[in-house]
Amino acid sequence: MSRITDIFGTMVFDEEVMKDKLPREVFAKFEKHLNDGSELPLEVADVIATTVKDWAEQKGATHFTHWFQPMTGVTAEKHDSLMNFAGKSLIKGEPDASSFPSGGMRATFEARGYTAWDTSSPMFIKEDTLYIPTAFMSYSGDALDKKTPLLRSCEAVDREARRVLAALGVRAGKVIPQIGPEQEYFIIPKSLYSARKDLVYTGRTLIGAAPPKSQELDDHYFGQLKPSIKAYMADLDEELWKLGIKATTEHNEVAPSQHELAPIYSECNIASDHNQLTMEMMKKVADRHGMRCLLHEKPFEGINGSGKHINWSLSTDTGLNVFKPGADPLNNTVFLLFVTAVIKAVDEYQDMLRISVASASNDHRLGGNEAPPAIISMFLGDDVTAVLDALEAGRTEVAASDRAMTTGVQVLTDFKKDTTDRNRTSPFAFTGNRFEFRMVGSLTSVSCPTYMINTMMASVLSEFADILEKSGDAEQCARELAAKSYTEHKRIVFNGNNYTDAWVEEAEKRGLCNYKTTAECMPEWTAEKNVKLFTSMGVLTEKELYARQEILFEEYCKELNIEALTLIDMIAKDILPSVGEYSAALAESIEVKESVLGKDVCTFDIRSLKEIMELSEKLSEKTADLRAIAATEPSYKISDPVSTMFCSDIIAAMDDIRQYADKLELMMPRDYWPIPTYGDLLFTQKYE
Ligand code: ADP
Ligand code: MG
Repeated sequence: MSRITDIFGTMVFDEEVMKDKLPREVFAKFEKHLNDGSELPLEVADVIATTVKDWAEQKGATHFTHWFQPMTGVTAEKHDSLMNFAGKSLIKGEPDASSFPSGGMRATFEARGYTAWDTSSPMFIKEDTLYIPTAFMSYSGDALDKKTPLLRSCEAVDREARRVLAALGVRAGKVIPQIGPEQEYFIIPKSLYSARKDLVYTGRTLIGAAPPKSQELDDHYFGQLKPSIKAYMADLDEELWKLGIKATTEHNEVAPSQHELAPIYSECNIASDHNQLTMEMMKKVADRHGMRCLLHEKPFEGINGSGKHINWSLSTDTGLNVFKPGADPLNNTVFLLFVTAVIKAVDEYQDMLRISVASASNDHRLGGNEAPPAIISMFLGDDVTAVLDALEAGRTEVAASDRAMTTGVQVLTDFKKDTTDRNRTSPFAFTGNRFEFRMVGSLTSVSCPTYMINTMMASVLSEFADILEKSGDAEQCARELAAKSYTEHKRIVFNGNNYTDAWVEEAEKRGLCNYKTTAECMPEWTAEKNVKLFTSMGVLTEKELYARQEILFEEYCKELNIEALTLIDMIAKDILPSVGEYSAALAESIEVKESVLGKDVCTFDIRSLKEIMELSEKLSEKTADLRAIAATEPSYKISDPVSTMFCSDIIAAMDDIRQYADKLELMMPRDYWPIPTYGDLLFTQKYE
């Protein structure tokens, strides 16, 4: 294995390389553009293009691509040869936009979209191609991608946070939202993956009985890595490091065959690009190792699903993290004001946070006693809660919460009790100097939840700034504002166990939202307060917002329909024929046994045969029901109640089918069951 320092960032045209390779005045103009957003003249872009072309060719690149993130959830690219590469082709591309989802924003007569170079995320080389990160929009400037609103939200939160800090006398040239997304995933053998249509078409198993052993012994979490997994992770790390991605933490997760990777946090736009690349590399490297990487939120029923925890914070360019409590948090006005701004934002925009993680696949995971429930609440921990209670009560001191936890082991240094949330049941937890949003699905782009958090925070900070700027004594005014926000919004704070039924009841009493499915929460996106949020902060126009709502709802319906069609196909073509084969063999063997030994000797066989026949009868009936629902294919419009009904009917019909299929699986001999079982997929010996 190579040394990290030898390979880290070798494929990235970052600021260091630019500084080294560009003429000094060109680099200065680029830097200025990055700092103040001033326009980048074409002649400067031309020089950068020539330089990056030279650099890329030396590293073996022959092509370039504008790399973008359309609303499909995956990245898109169109390769051109580097032959005529110049400033113009660096700055702007014109891919045909007509085949990407636009939510009706792009009439066919102007089907061309364009991609614009995102100068804040460095270019890089992958295989033989120079990748240029870009934003994707329609000709009239409407955002058609996931990056544009993220960039706009960074600007919004920077602008408003600086106003607040300025009012408090804190100087900062820039406030930067930063994230560290932890990524969970499953690894299974490729040959078994290919033998299951549900995994191939939908990314999850639609049927499958529970194996005798699963995760109950907690013997996988942080367990020793199998050599094959270790080799995979090492290879993956190397690929990611080359791309400048600081992959650092890797370990086994709770479920069998489940793992996690976390990078070191960075500016959220770059972290979001990196997360897309990480997911892509996870799949590619797995393929090389004869494995499949599953990024679906719930590949296996009854077994923990995968999420993405987004660790989020705001820091100034001078190195101040506004969420750092410091030695005396009760007298740290910046900390108090920014933390209470988060509390207010999370309470006021619970619905938007839920929407930001909504998808057909993530709905399976939320509330499943393994991930946070669909109810949004915040964990602050005893220390911060005590500080805010003291603030609210107008006290200037907090009771000493300096509890040292003794390990009882001499060789271990005693450490201060970690009062951050170690039970991990909270959807939105304060973890020492940042917040961790834990509802995000493993498959989802981090862009949407991140721009949601940035935008709602920007909006609250803007409200605060308006008040502070008018006040005589900003310091006193900030304390009062913080206390008031805490009082008004502390219903969103819950420090207990979020997995219990008691919490669901309590949350209802507190009036918190509990949207169980995507179909339930999606209409809230265009509620008046949410339209106001996005338009006033300049993150999405009303048109863009409605379009996004349509796109996501349509995607949700289509995903459900694909699952339905896949399930029907598997039952009709694989399961029922195999069950038929086995029952025929069983009937034949009963006949033979009875002809030799006489009647009454096959009671067990006959009982099994009858039960299998009954179950398969039911299974075929339920499959016909699902077929009838899937055939209706309504408009997929959020405003159409038929579409919403269609979704819940499909989900219910698929659950019905699964019940019978899973019972049958348990009654059939292994050789007759036509697809790999959960045991095969999760406990395969091949990778020991
Ligand atoms: P845990 O599993 O205990 O939550 P990990 O080390 O797996 O911890 O992941 C924590 C993530 O949070 C990492 O990506 C880390 O870089 C990131 N992180 C640490 N500090 C900050 C911060 N101030 N802002 C944003 N992310 C942070
Ligand atoms: Mg974490």
